[in-house]
Amino acid sequence: MLRYSLNNRGARIRTGDLADPNGARYQAAPRPDAPPVSHTSAGAIVAPVPTPITDIIAELDALLTPARFQDFCPNGLQVPGPAQVSTIATGVSASAQLFELAARERAGLLLVHHGLFWGSGPPGPIDAQLKRRLQILFDADIALAAYHLPLDAHPKLGNNALIAKALGAQRLDDPFAHHHSEPIGCLARFPGDGLAAQELFARVHALTEREPLVFDAGPSHVRTLAIVSGAGADYLADAAPAGADALLTGEPAERAMSQARELGLHLIAAGHYATETFGVRALGERLAERFGLRHVFLDVPNPV
Ligand SMILES: [Zn+2]
Repeated sequence: MLRYSLNNRGARIRTGDLADPNGARYQAAPRPDAPPVSHTSAGAIVAPVPTPITDIIAELDALLTPARFQDFCPNGLQVPGPAQVSTIATGVSASAQLFELAARERAGLLLVHHGLFWGSGPPGPIDAQLKRRLQILFDADIALAAYHLPLDAHPKLGNNALIAKALGAQRLDDPFAHHHSEPIGCLARFPGDGLAAQELFARVHALTEREPLVFDAGPSHVRTLAIVSGAGADYLADAAPAGADALLTGEPAERAMSQARELGLHLIAAGHYATETFGVRALGERLAERFGLRHVFLDVPNPV
């Protein structure tokens, strides 16, 4: 049986290509009879390898060690699906739109950063919105798994580590941005005397394909960059004593502007969504290579 080439990076499905002028409705005709196939970098068609979902979840748990984190949500399988999976889809945030895209792709497992359930304990009564979301998963027999803080923090597959690497910085091993006892962010160093701040802002723009919100209150060159994907603006207070010249996060907070100015740091808010596409997508690619699965990343761009 053919397995995936290591060069196969998985397809990318953007809702922008599929949406109507109102932005949300998926219009591509489903092809329910077509077997899921993918192409290697050389163009060859390969068949995905059906894999027990228990093996995939075990691999994810071994990689990400979610038990280390006191997270805001349950990590791991949130909604059961088929016993065997051939296609894995990845996306940032659970939503009806994302679930419909996964159904079109005939995914057996959808892996996300922000899952359906938050808090501890069983979810409360199911409202109409949750019913609709679950109905899409049940009707298409798609399992849902979510990994949150473990996927920000991972030293290789995490959002922060991947952002550092993509910006040309060397991730440092120093722990940064603790949530309870576990570090969830990272510090990264640019070579030499650092990177000109304007060049850093431009690289962030290019990487995330959107204009970041910048409070340029730091030095002309950034030698050490602190990174906390998502909603990490309050880690400014940790970034200054850690020796950082700038903090890159996703969402700003109103109080962050004056805080950045008073601390003398740049704050770069590059988008919550935009800073959290990297980890889950890399995880999907890793699983595709490990098990011979077909992987698609489902992009539902969000300006926040
Ligand atoms: Zn997030």
